[in-house]
Amino acid sequence: MKLDPCKFCGGVAGTPRDDQIERDAWVASVDCTGCEITVTMQYSCDSPQRAVECIGEMWNSKPAARL
Ligand SMILES: [Zn+2]
Repeated sequence: MKLDPCKFCGGVAGTPRDDQIERDAWVASVDCTGCEITVTMQYSCDSPQRAVECIGEMWNSKPAARL
């Protein structure tokens, strides 16, 4: 998935990271390479692929970033 430029600084999005939080639960996050923004999932998916897909959609739509 192609990630849009950062909504805050216009910078390039970093590579999505996936993290396993339980045996069958994954979350993912994306850091901006231009500012301190990180978009992190507030829920989990059942595979790392799905988690990275979800975080890509989230980054491209409405970053739930906290400054
Ligand atoms: Zn940024």
